Amino acid sequence: MRIAVVGTGYVGLVAGTCFAESGNEVVCVDQDAAKIRSLRRGKMPIYEPGLEELVRRNSQEGRLTFATQLPKAVRAAEIVFIAVGTPQGEDGSADLQHVLAVARDVARAMNGYKVIVNKSTVPVGTAVKVREVVRRETTHPFSVVSNPEFLKQGAAIDDFMKPDRVVVGAEDPRGAALMSELYAPFTRTGAPIMMMDCASAELAKYAANAMLATRISFMNEIANVCELVGADVDEVRRAIGSDRRIGSSFLFPGIGYGGSCFPKDVKAVMHFAAERDYEFKILKAVETVNQLQKTRLVARMRTHFGHLKGKTIAVWGLAFKPRTDDMREAPSIPLIEALLSAGVTVQAYDPEATRVAKGLFGARVTFAARSYDALKGADGLAILTEWNEFRRPDFAKMLKLMRSPVIFDGRNLFAPEQMKQSGFTYYSIGRH
Ligand code: NAD
Repeated sequence: MRIAVVGTGYVGLVAGTCFAESGNEVVCVDQDAAKIRSLRRGKMPIYEPGLEELVRRNSQEGRLTFATQLPKAVRAAEIVFIAVGTPQGEDGSADLQHVLAVARDVARAMNGYKVIVNKSTVPVGTAVKVREVVRRETTHPFSVVSNPEFLKQGAAIDDFMKPDRVVVGAEDPRGAALMSELYAPFTRTGAPIMMMDCASAELAKYAANAMLATRISFMNEIANVCELVGADVDEVRRAIGSDRRIGSSFLFPGIGYGGSCFPKDVKAVMHFAAERDYEFKILKAVETVNQLQKTRLVARMRTHFGHLKGKTIAVWGLAFKPRTDDMREAPSIPLIEALLSAGVTVQAYDPEATRVAKGLFGARVTFAARSYDALKGADGLAILTEWNEFRRPDFAKMLKLMRSPVIFDGRNLFAPEQMKQSGFTYYSIGRH
């Protein structure tokens, strides 16, 4: 099939590449000319495991191309994906300007029947808006389809190639049939393709992210209570995770959720519920808990040191989660800002996000090329992202490098008892 994907970010680039990998002819379009130039040279604008190799192979085989010009790509395609950003507007709503602008440009370029697929995360009613915009601009026939994306950054290729399910909101059989054909290679192993109306598909994506964010805030509160009553959140997690009604994934407490999706999607759900005079009380609490959780590690440092001014803190991990360079809404940002404004010298290390972090903090933070370099002369270490390489460090080497052996572990990487025996003062989340 011939496909155009508009928006070559985390979602569009991965989706386009995976569609090419399954034999389709794909053009990825982006208005960012520098991004397209670098992709044509085989250089990835983002870090995502496995992506570079897949892009290279499919580009070499001529199935995957990159363009800045949307009309040509649309004319050549049967299916056009919209995968542009839907950032948070000032009032918490999802900003649809990019989605609707692309819908208009697609409509103007149409030369016959097209399936216009919205892959961006958008509020209920967006498919209707897209349909109206397209209808105003063209007399050609078209189907509008809602196909929310559930991939996780850091495991995006695998998630896309082997999805748990594919959700398709389609209002007409022609669009639905083409989507079934397109996704057949990805759902062969038993993953269902779920056909539904557009409103349900649109809401399903928000419901998934809101549920996951709720689990995180819930476990963070359980961890906070563990600290108060002398329980261990790891044991509590083990006990409840084995209950099949609960399940064991997504039960890890930490320093609050971040990333480009959970914070904005939680706000967007609250916003479009409020527009219909419905107050989404649980999500309001989820968000409040998340904000507070992001401040707890610094509060603990203050309690430990008495005052922070003049201290040097090493930071391991800047990305909002491991296996990505993405720092959008990363909890590391407010935490480092709080340390800097308290007069702390911050020495940070991240395996992939340093380039992004340099853009955010500039010379205010010292960036180390290796994890151990960040520890030199540090009064404490804050662990903010659970990269695998932090899980089994050389503790003896760490003791030698640090001025004082204190670890503030926001990701519960180590066993508290072992840390005590190794000579560290060790703080983690919800454990003693
Ligand atoms: P992103 O910011 O990484 O990429 C968006 C791309 O769209 C950018 O490259 C931008 O230049 C391009 N763009 C914007 N307007 C354009 C236009 N008019 N024409 C051409 N290109 C244009 O965003 P992302 O993380 O890939 O997210 C895209 C959407 O998918 C969002 O709605 C997001 O909520 C959703 N989503 C994201 C994830 C994720 O993990 N990142 C997962 C599922 C769903």
